[in-house]
Amino acid sequence: MGRIIVLDENTSNKIAAGEVVEKPASVVKELVENSIDAGATSISVDIKNGGISYIKIADNGIGMDEDDVEIAFERHATSKIKRAEDLDSVITMGFRGEALASIASVASVELMTKTAASAYGMYVHVRGGVLQDVRQTGCPVGTTFIIKDLFFNTPARYKFLKKDSTEAGYISDTISRIALGNPNISFKLTNGKTPLIHTPGNNDLKSVIYSIYGKEIIKNLVHIEYADDKVKISGYIGKPEAARSNRNYQSLYINKRYVKSKLVSYSVEQAFSSILMKNRFPFFVLNIDINPILVDANVHPAKIEVRFADESYLSRTIYMAVSNALTTGGGLFNPVSVP
Ligand code: ADP
Ligand code: MG
Repeated sequence: MGRIIVLDENTSNKIAAGEVVEKPASVVKELVENSIDAGATSISVDIKNGGISYIKIADNGIGMDEDDVEIAFERHATSKIKRAEDLDSVITMGFRGEALASIASVASVELMTKTAASAYGMYVHVRGGVLQDVRQTGCPVGTTFIIKDLFFNTPARYKFLKKDSTEAGYISDTISRIALGNPNISFKLTNGKTPLIHTPGNNDLKSVIYSIYGKEIIKNLVHIEYADDKVKISGYIGKPEAARSNRNYQSLYINKRYVKSKLVSYSVEQAFSSILMKNRFPFFVLNIDINPILVDANVHPAKIEVRFADESYLSRTIYMAVSNALTTGGGLFNPVSVP
């Protein structure tokens, strides 16, 4: 007799959760990205015990339809793509339809949501992948998730959680990164009664940098703005005196998605090579917009790595744009073509 079986859905969700939900900050990342995809202009996050016992995320986005609130918790359930071809042009943060199913399989998840078109909101409670409750409720337009008891049914994962303060730090880093990539959205993070982050949502990147890094850095920023027919680069780079001892102060957004790219870091650093000492790394917050056809965002489940179609063009362009901003003190740079 054969020994192979197909795993039941709850088991395969728990396995998928192992990749998507590593720590409380991963829950925050996934849910905040959903809020952004829902068009929210204001997103507030409250946590207790570093998010281990409690995370609440409230947005003023479009909300969810009554017909969608249960299916949203199923694996591969998404409103963002319909077919594989859509992957080539995906502009939303999410598209795998895995986050809610994964989170709900390893925690208690309560959802309250309402669309503008509906007279009432919906409440849904799923715990450990099992539906506990669905009913109508009164609530404002938008969506609120409350996550409790993370990893209550996966003791091995629970054991690897760090101190509350460390997990809170990861959440704070996550919100900072997302806030820097979305200056048009106001983000608020509180830990118990302590306010940690509050960005204005006034579409001014400099204000976000100020909210997150404080006023010292503001004095040492060079504005960068470059556009040709293939790429657009904008943001701020720190003058050499604002350089740091590691790359934690480099934030890169490709088509609004936070990613890490050695190619981009090295290209920026190349422009600093004659003015920075070894082991000093430039501060930057850069937005690069490229035709989605030329970027593959689908290479890693955490979606933090990307691949570019024409790496050497991008590398040269970044080098030129940064070098130019550094020598001219910033501003618009728009050459006819980059050699
Ligand atoms: P994905 O984001 O990859 O589509 P998720 O599991 O994160 O998958 O979410 C499933 C679906 O639930 C989304 O496609 C979206 O339709 C809906 N959804 C989740 N969060 C929100 C939210 N904050 N506001 C509105 N709709 C949401
Ligand atoms: Mg999502």
